[in-house]
Amino acid sequence: MSRLFTRERSGFELSSTHLEAHRHPLVKKPFNSSGTLLLRLACRSVATWLVFTAVVASGKNVCFAVIGDYGNDSEAESRVAAMVQAWRPDFILTVGDNAYDEQTSQQDAFQKDVVAYYSNYIVRSSWDPYARRTRFFPSLGNHDYKYSGPGVDLLAAYESAFAVPPGPGGHHYYEFARGPVRFFALDSNKDEYPVWWPAQKRWLDTAIRRAGERWKIVFFHHSPYHSGSTHWNETHMRRFNFERLGVTAVLAGHEHVYERVMHKRVPFITNGLGGHSVYEFREQLVSGSAMHYPAVYPKSPTKMRNTFGALFVEASDRAITVEFWNLGGEKIDDWYWPPLSNPPLSRTPAAQP
Ligand SMILES: [Zn+2]
Repeated sequence: MSRLFTRERSGFELSSTHLEAHRHPLVKKPFNSSGTLLLRLACRSVATWLVFTAVVASGKNVCFAVIGDYGNDSEAESRVAAMVQAWRPDFILTVGDNAYDEQTSQQDAFQKDVVAYYSNYIVRSSWDPYARRTRFFPSLGNHDYKYSGPGVDLLAAYESAFAVPPGPGGHHYYEFARGPVRFFALDSNKDEYPVWWPAQKRWLDTAIRRAGERWKIVFFHHSPYHSGSTHWNETHMRRFNFERLGVTAVLAGHEHVYERVMHKRVPFITNGLGGHSVYEFREQLVSGSAMHYPAVYPKSPTKMRNTFGALFVEASDRAITVEFWNLGGEKIDDWYWPPLSNPPLSRTPAAQP
């Protein structure tokens, strides 16, 4: 089996409470030039898992994956899931379109398209009403409202499949914190969820203002800034004024591309390559587009197979790194904050076999 990670640039800066960590055989050169303890480990290497668990338990460092537009029970979904599982993230977020299959009396779409691939992360809502055990945090895409057979309530199936933290928005919008990050899931489906605007916006304004965490990440389905040719920019989501609220990053999907658009220094990341299909870009990119992928539409089957991917994010209370990896093992993009010449958090997953 190929080595999953190289460790040249990996590292989590730790406090003195984690001194036991550097005794681990995979921890090399535990102190950097300034004398700060530097734990060099791969977040998901099996051998370092116990050490990393101890680090996470401190509440200071987290790593997580983000998948979008992925739930169609395809070979591509399966390969993206294998890559994400190999990363061994602490938890997984989705930016929607979790199930493209029909919900019928014979078929549970969310079991077929999501739980089958991520059962080790997902706990049903009835088993985990306060979402203390789940490690899977979905947001609602348009396909999660549609594609149900006659008389079948797809939203009810979604609510049953996934435990989310309780709050006024139910499964539509919710918040939770892990380590130095507070997350805000929104429902961006303005047609299916008509009461979304006033209640949800008021809730987000208040929740973000009272959040004490270092990083604030908002995620939902309809991307407000992208250059894809299939869907329009979902300008209704710009009305949340994420930039003014001081969010760290905005993660969305719906357009089946990868793109990072910088708007007033906030990255708006469209992460729609989770396995369903690949869309093309318009000739004219939107203002602020800092990375778009695939820049050339993949015509060969091999290139198409390797175009899909997922986001990997690491955060300590000092820095945050957001990376997009494709199935060919290429790091397509990274964004990190603060903007150091030598990013403090990073590791390199190899291509999946
Ligand atoms: Zn969609």
